[in-house]
Amino acid sequence: MKETPEGAEIPSHVLMIRAGLVGQVMAGAYSYLPLGLRSLKKAERIVREEMERAGAIEVLLPALTPISLWERTGRREAFGSVLINFKVRRQNREVHLALGPTHEEVITELIAHHVSSYRQLPLTLYQIQTKFRNEERPRFGVLRTSEFLMKDAYSFDTSVEALGRSYDKMYEAYCRIFDRCGLKYLPVEAESGPIGGDASHEFMVPSENGEDLVVVCDSCEYAANQERAETGERKTTKPEAEAKPLTKLDTPDARTIEQVCKTLKCKPHRMVKTLIYLADEKPVAILVRGDHEANEGKVRRVLEATTLELAPPETIEEVTGAPVGFAGPVGLKVPIIADHDVAAMANVVLGANEADKHYVNANIERDFKVERFADVRNATEGDPCPRCDKTLTMKAAIEVGHVFKLGTKYSDALSAKFLDAQEHQQTIIMGCYGIGINRILASLIETNHDDDGIIWPMALAPYEVLVVPLNVSQQPVMELAEKLHDELQAAGVEVLIDDRDARPGVKFKDADLIGIPLRIVVGQRGLDAGELELKWRHKSDAESIPIEGAVEELT
Ligand code: ATP
Ligand code: MG
Ligand code: MG
Ligand code: MG
Repeated sequence: MKETPEGAEIPSHVLMIRAGLVGQVMAGAYSYLPLGLRSLKKAERIVREEMERAGAIEVLLPALTPISLWERTGRREAFGSVLINFKVRRQNREVHLALGPTHEEVITELIAHHVSSYRQLPLTLYQIQTKFRNEERPRFGVLRTSEFLMKDAYSFDTSVEALGRSYDKMYEAYCRIFDRCGLKYLPVEAESGPIGGDASHEFMVPSENGEDLVVVCDSCEYAANQERAETGERKTTKPEAEAKPLTKLDTPDARTIEQVCKTLKCKPHRMVKTLIYLADEKPVAILVRGDHEANEGKVRRVLEATTLELAPPETIEEVTGAPVGFAGPVGLKVPIIADHDVAAMANVVLGANEADKHYVNANIERDFKVERFADVRNATEGDPCPRCDKTLTMKAAIEVGHVFKLGTKYSDALSAKFLDAQEHQQTIIMGCYGIGINRILASLIETNHDDDGIIWPMALAPYEVLVVPLNVSQQPVMELAEKLHDELQAAGVEVLIDDRDARPGVKFKDADLIGIPLRIVVGQRGLDAGELELKWRHKSDAESIPIEGAVEELT
């Protein structure tokens, strides 16, 4: 395709469509065409090989799951509208199903059934399978889709120390995977869960079109997702004002996010999506965009920055019995309302910091000023590094992988236990590890292209060699091209031949667009001189080699 496809905003999206790797079915759903599928399979193979090398064992879980499973862990609410769920009828009975956006629940239940003794552990299982997420804003081609291929692995251990070993193995496997894929990546500290500390890392590919922001130290190894990054001089302050009883909302006290950020001594930024509603200088609720899980960290940070305590969700529910979209993670006593719930919540209850102190019948749009796409954050460009005090730099990046020490969140909820050597029952300690296979391709292209097209590394290229006969109607040219193709193929090279009856200029343009690493041109003039033209996609100049012995030379 010559033209930029409609709606494609970033190079990888444009190029994947123009080169015929994928075709859009609707926003967030793509078909993989032959070339794209070959590259996808290669990425998948690298991931699988490294999982096996790290001792993980492959399984395949269903995408269709019972909604009850998500209710048992509280994630039906936590995922909100991201969780695609629906009812079907079976023999006059209604069955409520959900399509898995990830598989902690399914795998933990599996383990609960099959593991009972410490002798069966440690164990790491993985799968490569389609995930479904009703992303609020699917975009950027296959970078953010509603249906995508994920490698998800889960580790099961008997102790926190053992979890550390499983985690390190996965971390190392991730480094090998992204190295083999030719990605320039950066492991960064990410928002960690209940285990805290150094318990989560994201693998980021720095790219100007990335949706995440990372801070990187110029001098030492420190790198973190900006959402979690700390600076050397961060302090927390407790607000002076006393809490007022808030029982009825008469005069709305709306604040802009800028004012909120000023109070909290933090900076608003385009990338972030946390909203805070203030009343009498107190946050009364924190509204987050997207899924709660992902925003737990942001919320926790806001609380740390203010040392405010808000009414626990239970209290609010006791007071009102109102169905409010609260997701209170353990230890995080704050009402959190998902952005997408707002429309459904005309009469919201907002908690104050004591029991019986609430706004009832609050109407968010009416009573509070809503500012979208603003947030609080810690470190930013130019801040001192928390490790070495040198300067931090900020980079936009694409998250391709994520490793996470889960602890017992799912094993507790779903009773995944084991008997230790003393016959005492204990809860299994888990970790989870995800890689977006489609994102490997998109982020590779996003960072490896020029004005003419994609520049594939050998490892992920749909084919390794492209043979281009200049004029298919010249029999000796075509014969030599086909002979080269067959001999290279027989030698195990992945080779494609452009046998279209098209002008050389057209073929060269398409060759550059598709970006196969090595192009071999067969023309009458070269044939007369006994030479072939070789051109590496990543180099600017072509070279000549003798036809005689060319295949041996190339393999
Ligand atoms: P993001 O922050 O970009 O929304 P996430 O943190 O929600 O991603 P995880 O739950 O950590 O994603 O899933 C593991 C991996 O799956 C991610 O690191 C990413 O590579 C991939 N992934 C997540 N969401 C999508 C999506 N909508 N489309 C394609 N790949 C995705
Ligand atoms: Mg997400
Ligand atoms: Mg993320
Ligand atoms: Mg993630």
